[in-house]
Amino acid sequence: MSDCLFCKIRDGHIPARVVYRDEVCLAFEDINPQAPTHVLFIPLKHIPTVNDIALEDRELVGHLYTAAARLARERGHADNGYRLVMNTQRDAGQTVFHIHLHMLAGRPLMWPPG
Ligand code: IMP
Repeated sequence: MSDCLFCKIRDGHIPARVVYRDEVCLAFEDINPQAPTHVLFIPLKHIPTVNDIALEDRELVGHLYTAAARLARERGHADNGYRLVMNTQRDAGQTVFHIHLHMLAGRPLMWPPG
């Protein structure tokens, strides 16, 4: 079995509050939410970091964004706004090495982040 936490969630070996799934991506509630809405969008394909995104993955990455925008609309965040972020490597605070797009919404978000 893969050692990757998010691959285990993808495969149903670790429970998660899944909010969306299709043939390319999976979205689930973050276990330690930093905003009223904090959802993680992951590709089903295991890609460790943004550094590992290949040209052939361009559509897949765009797919994460369109899925996130749809959920934002469904949850009523489209007008007030939301943040989509993909932390990359240590200095950005990446802790799970399977790329994931954070969607944070439901409160004013500070900028720049810490
Ligand atoms: P990163 O720090 O950008 O890599 O984000 C990893 C995120 O995964 C953090 O916001 C964690 O709270 C979240 N996380 C870690 N384990 C789980 C889990 O088992 N289920 C859902 N989210 C998780």
